[in-house]
This record gives sequence, C-alpha cells and structure tokens, in this order.
Amino acid sequence: MRMVQCPELCFWCGEATGRTSVFEAASPEDYDIPGVLASYEPCPACRRTWGLGVVLFEVVDEHSSDRPPLTPGYAPTGRWFIVPPETIREYFDYPEQVIATGKGIIDNVLADYLMDSFMQGQVIH
Ligand SMILES: [Zn+2]
Repeated sequence: MRMVQCPELCFWCGEATGRTSVFEAASPEDYDIPGVLASYEPCPACRRTWGLGVVLFEVVDEHSSDRPPLTPGYAPTGRWFIVPPETIREYFDYPEQVIATGKGIIDNVLADYLMDSFMQGQVIH
C-alpha cells in the first residue's frame, strides 16, 4: 500500500488545521479521503476561541470509547464549552487549579446542563 498525504482536520471543529498528515493507505478508498483526524491538537481558530475563557471538554471513560484518551483514563466526546472562571468556581472542587491551566474535563451530566443553560453555541460568556 502507498502512503497517502492529506489535510489534517481539527478534532474539535472539523475544519482543516493547516497541517498535513501522512499515513499508510489501508484500502484504495483511502487515496481519495479529503482529510483525516490526526490528533487532538486544536486548529488556530479553536485555539483562539479557547483563549477566551476556560475550556471544558466532555469526556467518557476511555474503555467506553474507541478514541484514544485525551487525558489518562478519559476519551473526549468532541463536545466542549468555553466558560468564565465563575462557572468553574461554581462546579469544581478545585477550581483554581482548573482556572490556572485553562482546561478541565467534565462528564455528560454537566455537559448536558451547560448545553441546556447556554443553548447550542459553544462560546459561553
Ligand atoms: Zn478547530
């Protein structure tokens, strides 16, 4: 099989990251794929958005997902939210640690709650 080179897609938004990924084709169809999810590295647009607040990633136990873990033991669902520090202080046991890193993980219960509270848009202010 040949090596295929194609645009890398951002896991978080589905847009092209501007990077290129190279992989070994597993079948002839692989020669035509428009893009590939290569990593959890955000595209520049997502990275900019994440800088607006604290980003919360919805995760599941890694054993219940076929995705690689985002953080040990937990795989991302693909849903994420930008919230202000006040929201972190309201829902996390160790909020200052989450606020300092700018990133946290949440379960589907809190993710559903955030969805209901703030409607679809992924940017929450
Ligand atoms: Zn993106």
